[in-house]
Amino acid sequence: MSESHDPNCIFCKIVAGAIPSKKVYEDDDVFVFHDIEPWAPVHFLMVPKAHIPSMAHLEDKHAALMGKMMVLAPKLAAEQGCEPYPEGGFRVVCNTGAHGGQEVHHLHVHVIGGPRPWKKG
Ligand code: 5GP
Ligand code: ZN
Repeated sequence: MSESHDPNCIFCKIVAGAIPSKKVYEDDDVFVFHDIEPWAPVHFLMVPKAHIPSMAHLEDKHAALMGKMMVLAPKLAAEQGCEPYPEGGFRVVCNTGAHGGQEVHHLHVHVIGGPRPWKKG
């Protein structure tokens, strides 16, 4: 299964509400929630509602979805307390595959910010 829903996927379960999460934002295509083990004062995950396993699975048809998430990231970062650029800002990370450090195989974009030091990153 590459698109829609994978019954064994933890982030599909979060999108469906079967596993509780602290929601930041939701629309027809995207679900955003706080990371359960934050590295920093602000740390949320942006996921497509459709089950796309990783960035390595992206096709041309996903360009608008990925663009939407990139445009959403700074808005939600500001809402969650990241201070303005350039003194503040945030980090965007999308771990892909084993060498990329990906642990959950449902595409997710980490948005991490807030004053340093951070626990990680
Ligand atoms: P990855 O290493 O795959 O890029 O990151 C997966 C992230 O998902 C980790 O930062 C981890 O803390 C987070 N995570 C894993 N399971 C859950 C969960 O059940 N709920 C939430 N909110 N975050 C999770
Ligand atoms: Zn999934």
